[in-house]
Amino acid sequence: MKWSISAHNTFRRCQRQYFFSEVMASPQAKDTKRREAYMLKQLKHLSAWQGSLVHQAIDQLVVPAWRSGSSVGVEKIVEYALAIARRQLAFSGNHDYQLLMQQSKVSLGSDFLALFEHEYGIEIPPSDVKVMYEMVSQCLHNLLGSKGFASSLCHHFDYESELPLNFKVDAFTVAVKLDLLCFRQDGKPTIVDWKISQSDTTAYTRQALTYALAVFRTPRWSNLRPEDIRLYEVNLLTDSVTQHTVTQGKLYQIEDFIFKSATEIQAVVGDQGYSLGRFEDYDSANSPLTCQHCNFRKLCLELNRD
Ligand code: SF4
Repeated sequence: MKWSISAHNTFRRCQRQYFFSEVMASPQAKDTKRREAYMLKQLKHLSAWQGSLVHQAIDQLVVPAWRSGSSVGVEKIVEYALAIARRQLAFSGNHDYQLLMQQSKVSLGSDFLALFEHEYGIEIPPSDVKVMYEMVSQCLHNLLGSKGFASSLCHHFDYESELPLNFKVDAFTVAVKLDLLCFRQDGKPTIVDWKISQSDTTAYTRQALTYALAVFRTPRWSNLRPEDIRLYEVNLLTDSVTQHTVTQGKLYQIEDFIFKSATEIQAVVGDQGYSLGRFEDYDSANSPLTCQHCNFRKLCLELNRD
């Protein structure tokens, strides 16, 4: 079974949401309900979209500039992010993401966006979009301004952005994606996670330590000590930086947490793979608010009626 921090969070929020997202959703299935679950899984709320725009701009312009040692003009990067935003908003507003029912996500191109609001017929006031664009601009200015965190990263090397890593905890495969991994002049790694929203401190510390464990357990960097890893949460919205210390004890604790979480999920999911009949075995959310914001609401209502 594959475990990730987001799958863990989904399972905690609602087991049925986990079923739709991690068990039922499939981009290749002939079963249209499984494809619909995959399409709904792509939906983003405005706040998540804001984060993905900042991530895209960093990945596509800022990190390549660091790699080549060239300077980074913040206004050019903001312009780039907002041009992507406008194209993506039009794509989602036209409901073009529904083509996922017949086509692959890759074939739909880099302007792909599926907004929760568009799928559920919720009006997006232009003023909300304007505020969101301002926040994207603010985040990039916070990063790239003269006192921004970027200045402490430009003398590193071997930058890897949006880097997927997998490792094992017992029989479970743990999957992570690092926002940024780079190496200091002494050859030791720095992990950076960009935050574009307020975060829950305990949950976030676990997420950050899972990233550290992934780097520590990857054979490419086999001579590391936990203390060699520098781990930063950089909140671009609040312009604040949190450094998490990494120790062997903390890595044991996080491994233990992953094992317990994955074992708990496995007890519900079982080993038989997908079967719609198993939907009833998954508990629903405790809070109506969770359902209100749930990507899978329409599918869930439909299955509850059947
Ligand atoms: S609509 Fe509610 S119960 Fe159904 S999957 Fe979503 S959060 Fe869970």
